[in-house]
Amino acid sequence: MTTSDPSRTVAVRIEAGAGPAKAAAPSADDAAAREPAVELRDVSVYYGTFRAVRNITFDAPANAITALIGPSGSGKSTLLRAINRMNDLIPGSRFEGEILYHGQNLYAPDVDPVEVRRRIGMVFQKANPFPKSIYDNVAFGPRINGFKGNLDELVEQSLRRAVLWDEVKDKLKQSGLALSGGQQQRLCIARAIAVEPEIILMDEPASALDPRSTLQIEELMAELRASYTIIIVTHNMQQAARASDYTVFLNMGEDRAGYIVERDRTLEIFTNPKNQLTEDYVSGRFG
Ligand code: ADP
Ligand code: MG
Repeated sequence: MTTSDPSRTVAVRIEAGAGPAKAAAPSADDAAAREPAVELRDVSVYYGTFRAVRNITFDAPANAITALIGPSGSGKSTLLRAINRMNDLIPGSRFEGEILYHGQNLYAPDVDPVEVRRRIGMVFQKANPFPKSIYDNVAFGPRINGFKGNLDELVEQSLRRAVLWDEVKDKLKQSGLALSGGQQQRLCIARAIAVEPEIILMDEPASALDPRSTLQIEELMAELRASYTIIIVTHNMQQAARASDYTVFLNMGEDRAGYIVERDRTLEIFTNPKNQLTEDYVSGRFG
């Protein structure tokens, strides 16, 4: 009787049919179909009369890692700072173009740059914990934002997401500056995460770290990608190839302004670049 129960047969069929689709891992192709998290449109940034980057247009897809690569001085840091309006803090800097975030121009007159920096966090090359306890480093942003929830929980959750919790849970009152370089960088990532941003910008976050800490940061990025959109600047080609889904290659023109040579899936950039300059750069022939 039970074997001829029609509802049972159907259930079994659906399960069998759903299996393989569920098992397929999400790929960078899926990200391409997603809405971009930020879109740069014809962006130029000046310092005084000097144009540091010119006519930059690219999208960073949501829940993917986009790497910015290119020779020193090609404007990678400038572009990152433009995305969360940190360049506003540099006297004499000037922005042209548009950066769209959920379709809204971040440079529209009614946009509050402080709010932009909360939604779009930044992690720097040199880990820069505040001279405060580990706990207070992570709690700093939520406190100034007037966070009303359970701060202990938020601190723990942020440290867990930054894969630092197990190493520091027994010494939360100790100074953040007493941690190792790799731990300090993960603390800075926890601090960035604590204000619940959507996008995390990372400017050569592992370049001052030893190989083991570098790999830890890369593994962490791969985990964070599920919840955040990441844009990373790196001068390490292996790192860009290993850790990112998309790569934007910038070069400097005669006028020293940075411009985009090529932007594509990371695999394409490293295995089948369309531009000779890209091939020369990723194979280490210049830069
Ligand atoms: P990258 O990160 O690719 O090395 P940057 O964005 O730091 O490049 O710099 C791009 C260009 O802008 C360089 O020529 C640099 O000298 C110039 N630049 C960067 N920051 C400033 C600044 N605060 N004032 C003036 N010029 C700057
Ligand atoms: Mg830089």
